Amino acid sequence: MSELLSQLWTPELQAAFTVVVILLVILYVLSIVWVVRDAYLRGSYWYVWAIVALIPLLGIIAYCLLRPPLLQIDRDEQELEIALKQRELMKYGECANCGYPVEADFVLCPNCHQRLKNLCGTCNHALDPSWTVCPYCATPVGGAAPARRNAPRARTQQPQQAAPQQRQARTRSPQGEHPAQ
Ligand SMILES: [Zn+2]
Ligand SMILES: [Zn+2]
Repeated sequence: MSELLSQLWTPELQAAFTVVVILLVILYVLSIVWVVRDAYLRGSYWYVWAIVALIPLLGIIAYCLLRPPLLQIDRDEQELEIALKQRELMKYGECANCGYPVEADFVLCPNCHQRLKNLCGTCNHALDPSWTVCPYCATPVGGAAPARRNAPRARTQQPQQAAPQQRQARTRSPQGEHPAQ
């Protein structure tokens, strides 16, 4: 038996066996390095996975099965993409009447001609129906409600009753300007 073994265990076989063992050790070490690096990039507990990876073969199989699905960079990129899409959606809205996609500064729906925005009488900018003042030229907007379709075109703008405090301030200011000297 031992004679047969020593006959089979030739120096060539011994060398081949050594090479295989070295290759396996290199593969083992590389697998640990890969697991640690991959777990780190995925924002996972890489030191926990390093311990798991120490188990030959089973460690790396377990990691491949249980590793977090997304790389940290990919996750950041995805979040950025979602944020960009949300901004795009804010820029483009929908017609409340027919659902047609409209841009933020559209005044009429191109599809159903529903009035979407009021126009500022002074600077002609499109104004949101909920605004009470034009943000471009500071002109107060007469009616906060959106213009109805049957409303008369030439809307007589009623002078709004000035608040008593404002009126007081207005009447007081010219008299209050006493010369300093
Ligand atoms: Zn519409
Ligand atoms: Zn304006």
